[in-house]
Amino acid sequence: MENQEIQNQQTQEECTHDCSTCSANCSSRDPKSFLEKPHQLSSIKKVIAVVSGKGGVGKSMVTSQLAVALHRMGYKVGILDADITGPSIPKCFGVTEARACEDGWLPGLSEGGIQVVSLNLLLEDETQPVVWRGPVIAGTVKQFWTDFIWQDLDYLLIDMPPGTGDVTLTVFQTIPLDGIVIVTSPQELVSMIVEKAVNMAGMMNIKTLGIVENMSYVRCPDCGKILRIFGESHAAEVADKHGLELLEQIPLDADLAAAADAGKIEKISSPYFMTAAQRIVEKTK
Ligand code: ADP
Repeated sequence: MENQEIQNQQTQEECTHDCSTCSANCSSRDPKSFLEKPHQLSSIKKVIAVVSGKGGVGKSMVTSQLAVALHRMGYKVGILDADITGPSIPKCFGVTEARACEDGWLPGLSEGGIQVVSLNLLLEDETQPVVWRGPVIAGTVKQFWTDFIWQDLDYLLIDMPPGTGDVTLTVFQTIPLDGIVIVTSPQELVSMIVEKAVNMAGMMNIKTLGIVENMSYVRCPDCGKILRIFGESHAAEVADKHGLELLEQIPLDADLAAAADAGKIEKISSPYFMTAAQRIVEKTK
């Protein structure tokens, strides 16, 4: 008999029908039973996860710019940095510390008022690598949701680690997501990456809100001509194939990179993310 079958049989024999005290992934389990409650003083209306197939495609850039765009539209916004081993959100917002209060921990606050929680705000030395096993990392992300007091948020954006691994699964199972946004770039195997993300979200009954293609093109500063330096984009075709919306195509823009490096991502008046933010608001109403 296969291991999985033995395990299932044992699980059925020992089943107390109380999923909250059991971690077995058996067929009678309601996926919603894994969901964790946020801190009792938190108030969060919508939660959106930003995912990508691999690192370096600009997932954190898209997360932070979507947050800035939503904030400019008048919404209260927070970012939960679940990319524990490659956290870049605090640096691009110039946030260095979380805040302690009588009732617990409050997120760090950007100059403009965007709430940020990231492991880098809790480490004494942010250059120390995080040499942790998957379950510890996943547990930490869960605590960012359960232990921090998120104040009055209209939108909480989650900057996910790349891929469909342990932490992604934990977030999908434990945090009640209103949707995911998939970030791709033209040099990736876009179709496969989109399909994996859509399927994973579908397995947990989570809506895919659309695709943002980053590093889509470069505009020549002299003549304005569009250069496709990573090759032709297939994002529109792929979006179509999966019945998704291509929310926005973002160029490689040196001003965006410089603003992120300088911790001034809120200061740049980037024209690119307003349409995507608007569509996300409409799709999560
Ligand atoms: P990921 O989160 O997918 O690993 P990041 O958002 O950290 O990727 O982006 C990787 C690097 O590329 C960062 O230095 C970031 O500032 C830069 N970058 C991302 N998107 C753009 C863009 N559209 N234009 C210029 N630089 C970008």
